[in-house]
Amino acid sequence: MADSTTNVPPPPHTIFDTILVLDFGSQYTHLITRRLRELSIYSEMLPCTQKISELSFKPKGIILSGGPYSVYWDDAPHVDPAVFEMGVPILGICYGLQEIAWHSDQKNVVAGEKREYGHAILNVQKHSGKTAHVDALFSGLEEDMDVWMSHGDKLSQRPAGFVTVATSENAPFAGIAHEEKEWFGIQFHPEVTHTKKGTPLIKNFAVSICGAKQDWTMDAFVGKEIDRIRALVGPKGQVIGAVSGGVDSTVAAKLMHEAIGDRFHAIMVDNGVLRLNEAKQVKETLTAGLGINLTVIDASDRFLDLLAGVKDDPEKKRKIIGNTFIEIFQEKAKEIAAAAKGSANEGEIEWLLQGTLYPDVIESISFKGPSATIKTHHNVGGLLEGMHLKLIEPLRELFKDEVRALGTQLGIPEDLVWRHPFPGPGLAIRIIGEVTRDQVRIAQQADFIFIDEIKKAGYYKQISQAYAALLPVKAVGVMGDKRVHAQVIALRAVETTDFMTADVFDFPTKFLSKVSTRIVNEVDGVCRVLYEVTSKPPGTIEME
Ligand code: GLN
Repeated sequence: MADSTTNVPPPPHTIFDTILVLDFGSQYTHLITRRLRELSIYSEMLPCTQKISELSFKPKGIILSGGPYSVYWDDAPHVDPAVFEMGVPILGICYGLQEIAWHSDQKNVVAGEKREYGHAILNVQKHSGKTAHVDALFSGLEEDMDVWMSHGDKLSQRPAGFVTVATSENAPFAGIAHEEKEWFGIQFHPEVTHTKKGTPLIKNFAVSICGAKQDWTMDAFVGKEIDRIRALVGPKGQVIGAVSGGVDSTVAAKLMHEAIGDRFHAIMVDNGVLRLNEAKQVKETLTAGLGINLTVIDASDRFLDLLAGVKDDPEKKRKIIGNTFIEIFQEKAKEIAAAAKGSANEGEIEWLLQGTLYPDVIESISFKGPSATIKTHHNVGGLLEGMHLKLIEPLRELFKDEVRALGTQLGIPEDLVWRHPFPGPGLAIRIIGEVTRDQVRIAQQADFIFIDEIKKAGYYKQISQAYAALLPVKAVGVMGDKRVHAQVIALRAVETTDFMTADVFDFPTKFLSKVSTRIVNEVDGVCRVLYEVTSKPPGTIEME
């Protein structure tokens, strides 16, 4: 295999001004990175254990995150002391503040008498004379600030060389700044939306103090990424990848197509449990619309035959669908690879496209505690045994909103860019009980009507995920003066930002009645429609 990785353009952290976030395991660390990206500033997160000598780029500034530990514990995590020698501005948030104070003197941090959790009013203190530069962090935010706190430890004294730039009732050192170096610490969390002026504060740090340029846009990223893909794959190399019709795989596929044309081979497997007309529509959009070299494999019978008789075990449904998908993808990949090998000007298939996003990367590298073993990133490439494919992950640096912006940039239609997520096992986990061809028909038709009405009423973008599920029970109804005994549909629609927690969408009853009327009238085999009102937790977004 030729080494095509020489002369590959460097990754974003060497091109764009980068703020490095070092993670101490807070559940909010990824939000710091997101807020920076929303400000068009490139930012990456690494675990707090990162050795500075092994860092492949020089950040414009460093943010130390919060974390669940106490800095004075014997096994508490600490940053490489070289962080304080780099000569770049540092902002410590909560545990990060305590880490800065502890670094200066281990006596500076103690357990507080009481925990402080929730809103607090911050009093910003201005300085004049030779220490006036310490005001930069709160510049323009001088009024009493509504902030959000979540800590039990506190600074017992002001570390030597620092001044106090903010106080709160329970935290006399809620904000500190070094008199000479550009080091700042705050006890509250500016990255959460409960802190009213959090984003302007992060901007003050990144732009005014670190001098980071706000040039991270998808417009600037796309050309560089296309160059990087071309250099990585080389002039003849070929790539294979699965597409589903969802936003991530479509954006990744379009990007590959822009970079290497038909040397990117997309495969879509129709598993028989897709939405109404989905395989046909995806094919049209991706081929006629976006020009992607796509093979659609109709394997519905193979999947549905395997699913027959599986009733009470949702995990079994997932396994059958997952394993069969891999088998089919593998068979097709080998066929395409064999055909490609014979062609005159094309090389071997060496690469597998993966639609990994930055939240997946964050999840796999975030700091899980002093004794936790690092989880290796789940690698689909290994499943394609015998092909020895290398992974190519063009969306690896991007958050979901950035993937959407990139999709728009690449000319992908709006309704696809904003499409709700759809699970790999498809309707099979929205059909409770046995998946038969007739149950699939009912679920598809009911789902189509629900989504159609949601779009007509203008709710689609407000909702994060919506679908109709089919329950395995029958109820009595009267239709056309005739008693019927038919099945029940459960509608589900949730709002969420991270899919970890979710609220039920608040439809007007009139809207729900309209959907119910249409489903009962138009879908044979259904006589009742329910609205599912369980939040997550305790419910999950999908049914099985
Ligand atoms: N564990 C530390 C405390 O309780 C830090 C908390 C945090 O970073 N949110 O003060």
